[in-house]
Amino acid sequence: MSLTHSIQKTIGRFAPSPTGHLHFGSLIAAVASYCMAKQSGGEWLLRIDDLDQPRVVAGAADIIMHQLETFGLLWDRSVVYQSERSEIYRAAIERLKQVGLTYPCSCSRREILASAPHLGEEGAIYPGTCRHKIQPTNSSYCTRITTPDNEILFNDGIYGPISQNLAREVGDFPLQRADGIFSYQLAVAVDDHACGVNQVVRGRDLLFSTPRQIHLLQQLGYAIPTYTHIPLVLSLDGEKISKRHHQVGDSLEQSPSTLLYLALDFLGQHPPKDLCAEQPATIVVWACSHFNLQHVTPADRVFPLK
Ligand code: GLU
Repeated sequence: MSLTHSIQKTIGRFAPSPTGHLHFGSLIAAVASYCMAKQSGGEWLLRIDDLDQPRVVAGAADIIMHQLETFGLLWDRSVVYQSERSEIYRAAIERLKQVGLTYPCSCSRREILASAPHLGEEGAIYPGTCRHKIQPTNSSYCTRITTPDNEILFNDGIYGPISQNLAREVGDFPLQRADGIFSYQLAVAVDDHACGVNQVVRGRDLLFSTPRQIHLLQQLGYAIPTYTHIPLVLSLDGEKISKRHHQVGDSLEQSPSTLLYLALDFLGQHPPKDLCAEQPATIVVWACSHFNLQHVTPADRVFPLK
């Protein structure tokens, strides 16, 4: 292998769902993924995760892009919209089907709850009821992928070694819902590969989605990126902050520079106080050259903004 082959350029990405404006928690994930991609001379891509059209808020993607520009977080390449990529997801499911890894499932939510051995991190663990049925018993069915009864392991940049037995802790999971919507897990795995993403940095709420994505990447024969999950900002009531809490640049008084400064502070980067007075572009340059993952405190926590 030639030397040029073994030195891989970092390709990171930010992949917001356009269900509202950016909030402080998503700003933190954006800043961390931007700094980690750029500090090694890599590219930072923007993907809009707008598959779940019923949840998409009209105009939100444009607002998010405008907010990112205001923060000086500028993406390389054209924006990828998942809603335009159905054919690619369909083809990936077809490949998995050809090797016997998928099956149609017509179980209702209620049936799954009643038959699940126990509840997992994300609800009922599907016990594989339809795995061996030849035909779906109903005209409305989702497509599931079989999961292996062994540990899927990865080393998270912050949380260290993580392992999950998909069969026991998650169950066979959907690739396409009965209403035709492709699953988040499928779309993310396919798109990260298609865009050459080799560094995934995102919120800790997705830590336990990672083994599902690794399983899909492995079954499709694709390379596995590195994964780093960023601790969550909690609201005063202890919940993950969401769109209804702090929409940056909307309900908050702070300037983009102050918010960037606070995001770096949350990430443990100890930005110098006078950085607050600088333009966002200057703060982002400082952040990229000083970013140190070792300084991030892993615990989710409340971070007062007002
Ligand atoms: N679209 C997802 C979200 O907004 C993030 C997807 C990802 O980073 O893998 O929560």
